[in-house]
Amino acid sequence: MFFKCKNCEGNMVYSPEKKEMFCPYCDSLKSHVRSDQGKDVLTICPNCSGEITVGEYDASGRCPYCDTYLIYNSRVEGEYLPKKIIPFKLGKEACKKAIRDRFGRQKFAPVDFLTEVKLDTIEGEYVPFWFYDYKTRCEFRAEGTKVRSWVNGNTRYTETSYYDIERNMDIPFENLPVDASIKMPDEVMDMMEPYNYAELEDFQPEYLSGFLSERYNMPSEELEQRASEKMNQAALGMLKSSYAGYARVEVKKQEITPMSKSTSYGMLPVWKYNYTYQGKPYPFYVNGQTGKIVGECPLSKKKVWVYSGSLWVLLMLAFALINGILRFL
Ligand SMILES: [Zn+2]
Ligand SMILES: [Zn+2]
Repeated sequence: MFFKCKNCEGNMVYSPEKKEMFCPYCDSLKSHVRSDQGKDVLTICPNCSGEITVGEYDASGRCPYCDTYLIYNSRVEGEYLPKKIIPFKLGKEACKKAIRDRFGRQKFAPVDFLTEVKLDTIEGEYVPFWFYDYKTRCEFRAEGTKVRSWVNGNTRYTETSYYDIERNMDIPFENLPVDASIKMPDEVMDMMEPYNYAELEDFQPEYLSGFLSERYNMPSEELEQRASEKMNQAALGMLKSSYAGYARVEVKKQEITPMSKSTSYGMLPVWKYNYTYQGKPYPFYVNGQTGKIVGECPLSKKKVWVYSGSLWVLLMLAFALINGILRFL
């Protein structure tokens, strides 16, 4: 499917700035109609009938011939129908500005790193996620030690007190996210968190228009381990903060038991800047909701050389000057 403008037949896309479907050709808003014209063949563009390449997991993409953003029906239906989505909040221009603000003052960045031509290649992509909800029972028993010491005259006194710590807490966890995309590095997605899950919306295919996306690559069962690790870590953190203030804590029992679990499928927005420097890829990722950037700026060897070269010249000049002055003394 794709979305057509009722006024001018142009391809309508979702605009993060306007929070509406927008026609970039005639500027109209919300004048979109869904089009499923043509044969329902995945590899044929329904707009221009051109033959297109669709990746194994792609849920949407852009036709290279007519530039129409296509949403592949069979990849967003049935078992692949996402339940929720955080729509892009950061538009392309805002994303470019975020990258410029962050790296603009990096002296050693390659010359073309922040050029309009290069930055314009950034693409917005929805990454498939499984969201896990848990209800957990957390049982904790430990012995805590508090030490008090004081000086009286010439003697230092120390008093050690022991406390039984017991915590029984039912902690619910909602929307623990685990990305279900093979090509998306897990550590990058973890670093890009947090997303604000209060802004999760019910899924609508309109949100995908204007962006690339993937359906999930792995079923939720396969990723469960990562979710339960996240849940355990969070539960331990909460337990720990509930017994702060002891000098030492000797744990006797620590059990985090999931009482119930449910999963749902959704998509989260990411801007991607695939920058290559001297044949090496430097991928940049920007959280499409918060603008948080994950990526490392390449160092231009030429710039570093020029810089250290000029530093060297300055040093030599200073040295020669001092030398000269000394000789005259
Ligand atoms: Zn239009
Ligand atoms: Zn086309």
